[in-house]
Amino acid sequence: MIIQLNQTVNEEIVATLLKRLAATPATVIRIGTHVAVPEVNQVTLMADEAAQVAEIIEKTPAAVLGSRLFQPEDTIIKLPHSTIGGKGGFTMMAGPCSVESEEHVRRMAKVAKEGGATLLRGGAYKPRTSPYSFQGLGEDGLKYLRAAADENGMDVITEVMDETHVDLIAKYTDVFQIGARNMQNFSLLKAVGKTKVPVALKRGLAGTIDDLLNASEYIAAGGNHQIMLLERGIRTFDNKYTRNTFDLAAVPVLQKLTHYPVIVDPSHAVGEWDLVTPMAHAGVASGASGMIVEIHDDPEHAFSDGPQALKPKTYLKMTKEVFELKELMNSWEA
Ligand code: PEP
Ligand code: MN
Repeated sequence: MIIQLNQTVNEEIVATLLKRLAATPATVIRIGTHVAVPEVNQVTLMADEAAQVAEIIEKTPAAVLGSRLFQPEDTIIKLPHSTIGGKGGFTMMAGPCSVESEEHVRRMAKVAKEGGATLLRGGAYKPRTSPYSFQGLGEDGLKYLRAAADENGMDVITEVMDETHVDLIAKYTDVFQIGARNMQNFSLLKAVGKTKVPVALKRGLAGTIDDLLNASEYIAAGGNHQIMLLERGIRTFDNKYTRNTFDLAAVPVLQKLTHYPVIVDPSHAVGEWDLVTPMAHAGVASGASGMIVEIHDDPEHAFSDGPQALKPKTYLKMTKEVFELKELMNSWEA
């Protein structure tokens, strides 16, 4: 249930109402004039309480806090060098799949920045399909990534795979990435939900849109409302020519259902570098708030995800086109 309060209310009466509702097993969460009461679908108001209330929405989605019914306005995430969400802007995030060395990530940061990226990506803890594949440089990788981003005036996005790493990674990053394989790792979601670090939640390989929204609600329920959702392709019956199936319709659907920024990841969606640019075009055209893309200057020798990495020249051409497309789209809105 969502209770929409009047613009001006008698705080004493509202406090009594919220206390009464909190007596149920639900947790009452209030942001300004919006009050979310998850798991409660009905309330009988006293006359003085009813006078404080503009509207009660009883039929709510499972992800109450993430719902547009709870917060109609877009969530806008502000970082030192980037703004994510809201109208008109487009946030580029780029970098290698893995942090490979201090020198390499510095080189890639320069390229990423030149293409208009304001966030540098790179994994220091890698979720690999095989335990024998490269697992990441760990804390050294985080240090290299942070230094490369600082050197270029960029923010950092990096994956947190395990709840025991949350505090350590928070020291180095501006955004926690939760990988597709961890979308429903509820203890990890709860752990990042207790922090104030923005979270980029990737859609699971077999995650429905409701699964993704419910997963985001775990983060929001912990008190962290700085969330963005990443569409990175899902598993379908056909992965012969693309690594995953890019569900672009998820972008406008999520934007309708939730106020969180939606970001596209064409790299993991298709898995082949020559398919990334057309899908990057499609990603911006879908109305996403930003994009995360993998780059490498020697993809054949990349420690991970080489086949999908864009070489610098291709990346620079792609981002130029993507920003031009975004400008064209903005001219339609004007
Ligand atoms: C990544 O960003 O390198 C990654 C592992 O992504 P995903 O969780 O989407 O597979
Ligand atoms: Mn990758």
